[in-house]
Amino acid sequence: MPSPADRRCAVIGAGIAGLAVAVRLARAGWQVTVFERGPMAGGKMGELRLHGHRFDMGPTVLTVPHHIDDLFTLCGEDPRAHWNYQRLDPGFHYRFEDGTVVRTWADPQALAEEFASRTGTSRERMLTFLERSREKLDITRRVFLERSLHVPRNYLDRSTLKGLLRLGRIEPLTSMAHSNGALLHAPKAAAILNQFASYNGANPYQAPATLNLIAYYELALGSYHAQGGMYAVARALEALARRQGVEFRFGTLVERILVKDGKASGVQADGLPERFDAVVSNADVLRTWRMLLQDQRAPRTALEQPRSGSVIVFHWGMGRLFPELGLHNMFMSHDARREYDSIFKERTVHDDPSVYVHISSKMNPQDAPPGHENWFTMVSAPNNTGQDWDALVERTRERVLTKLSRMLGADVASAITCASVMDPRGIEALTDSPLGAVYGNSVNGTFAPLLRHPNFTRRIDNLFFCGGSVHPGASIPLCLYSARITADLVRDRYRP
Ligand SMILES: Cc1cc2nc3c(=O)[nH]c(=O)nc-3n(C[C@H](O)[C@H](O)[C@H](O)COP(=O)(O)OP(=O)(O)OC[C@H]3O[C@@H](n4cnc5c(N)ncnc54)[C@H](O)[C@@H]3O)c2cc1C
Repeated sequence: MPSPADRRCAVIGAGIAGLAVAVRLARAGWQVTVFERGPMAGGKMGELRLHGHRFDMGPTVLTVPHHIDDLFTLCGEDPRAHWNYQRLDPGFHYRFEDGTVVRTWADPQALAEEFASRTGTSRERMLTFLERSREKLDITRRVFLERSLHVPRNYLDRSTLKGLLRLGRIEPLTSMAHSNGALLHAPKAAAILNQFASYNGANPYQAPATLNLIAYYELALGSYHAQGGMYAVARALEALARRQGVEFRFGTLVERILVKDGKASGVQADGLPERFDAVVSNADVLRTWRMLLQDQRAPRTALEQPRSGSVIVFHWGMGRLFPELGLHNMFMSHDARREYDSIFKERTVHDDPSVYVHISSKMNPQDAPPGHENWFTMVSAPNNTGQDWDALVERTRERVLTKLSRMLGADVASAITCASVMDPRGIEALTDSPLGAVYGNSVNGTFAPLLRHPNFTRRIDNLFFCGGSVHPGASIPLCLYSARITADLVRDRYRP
């Protein structure tokens, strides 16, 4: 066994989880090399520059930013010297066709009051929703989110056992839509809370009500704005990793994970084999087994589970200001049920989709030229199973423009000065996510969130997995949990 200072780890992929695991292992004394096929760090958390506008390409909603701070403090650094953020109040503006606007306030009492006065639910029902979601997060955090589900000893401590006894409280057998409809008695309130399923590419009519915990992150723990935009997070983590001695090899595709006598012994990148004591794959787990471990037998969980949904994103430079809009704006569909059926049953985009418009230049004026805005305009879409995307994207563009113009009372199309679009094909090409699924495997279904691939494999020693396609799941907070679990597993593997 190599001495601690000689231990070398390869991380395949510089997504948020790959960056975080690299920082943690380097801090623990490993020599870490990150291989990234693309030209820059961040993976889905990418950045686009277009005619003087800057756009984030992936995540735009930041929650629990102190989990990112933890990586800096772990390394003995002051996070504020390297990145910063502020809490949003209000967080989102939800707009309905009848002119109703619901804002999400940071104070829970103000939030409950807003929902009561604008949607017809009561303050008490909304506060009950928050309390139930808090309980769901509390239970799942101990049992599921912060640790590997697949290490038997993790079930033996008191807090986990307590959590397991309370599992019924997380409503695994009820759909989100059923639970929210029954509690809130107000279609607009339920529609807002159901759309948190889309944060995992899921259908609230199928996904368990357990996923209401996602709303708790944003509505109660807070929605934050990263100064400089979300890409500032990737940039800051890459710099932190470099300060910890991590080596980055961009534009370097890992072609194979080398396996000898049942152990990962290195990687082959750009045709050259290289020895490592441990390999962490931050690449999509399906791709890892199919492409990088072609001669190994893959577990069924990796190959057979359905994939999550995807998105179409229009990046639009706008030649005028829209003062009535905030940083995060959601233009709700008039028939959300039909929208989910269109995506998950008919595998197309709904005629009247819910449209999310994120305008980072509201907070970062430098993201657009003076008098301009940068619109990240996103709709949910099915993953790529061979649809005619050129036609679908064009039809969706027309419908989105018509809807936004109708709801804003302005000709939105005429304000566009430059444009770019990303559909599931583009997401697949950019980050090698099969079918362009944004969130790994689907979490529609009672036990689906528990069926994600473990952070290790019993088939190959010294091989580990982190990121949105494995346990505990997708989104920045869960990817950071995944990185922590994985780094601990790597360290445990070598603990004397
Ligand atoms: C449009 C969009 C909006 C989103 N919105 C939000 C949001 O608001 N909030 C939120 O929390 N989350 C959001 N997400 C989800 C979030 O971005 C992801 O869950 C997270 O970024 C995934 O990170 P990851 O660590 O799994 O790696 P990924 O980002 O998937 O990166 C994996 C990296 O591995 C590299 N790679 C793959 N194969 C190889 C190989 N063989 N060799 C070398 N490199 C390889 C890829 O190039 C890629 O850079 C959004 C995602 C998208 C696409």
